Order: sequence, then C-alpha cells, then structure tokens
Amino acid sequence: MSESLSAQQLLRIRSKLETIAAEQPDTRAADAANAALQRMRSGEYGYCIECGDEISAARLAAKPDVALCVDCQALQDEDDEDA
Ligand SMILES: [Zn+2]
Repeated sequence: MSESLSAQQLLRIRSKLETIAAEQPDTRAADAANAALQRMRSGEYGYCIECGDEISAARLAAKPDVALCVDCQALQDEDDEDA
C-alpha cells in the first residue's frame, strides 16, 4: 500500500476539491469535484468507479477529481472523441 495517499495528501486534495466546487459553481469541474468529495465521504475515493481498481496516488495528486483508472479513462477518451 506504499502508493496509497497519506492522510495529509488526502486533506490537501479535499481542500483543493472544496475550493473548485466553491469557486466554479455549476461547471463540470465543480460537478466532478463534488462527486469526488462524495466518494471521499463514502470511503470510495481513490478507486476507479468503473472497474474498482485502486487509482495511483500520483494520478490522484495530479488530478484530484479523477474517478477512473488510466485504463478506463483511455476507453472513455475514445468515446468522447466520437461525441
Ligand atoms: Zn478502471
């Protein structure tokens, strides 16, 4: 579990998400931030919402509202290109 987020990292990420949600209301960024905060409260934060795999701490630190692992993200990005 060396890759897991420390409590301190988690706190920093949470305040980042709260800032995004407060400063950019009614945007996709705020929606994503709120969803991430929700997952944090339910203890699901840091796991892919598609496949349940653990998302690396580095990925979460870089993109705190990320809900998908790299594999699922790649699949979704392909779908987005069609839209
Ligand atoms: Zn996944």
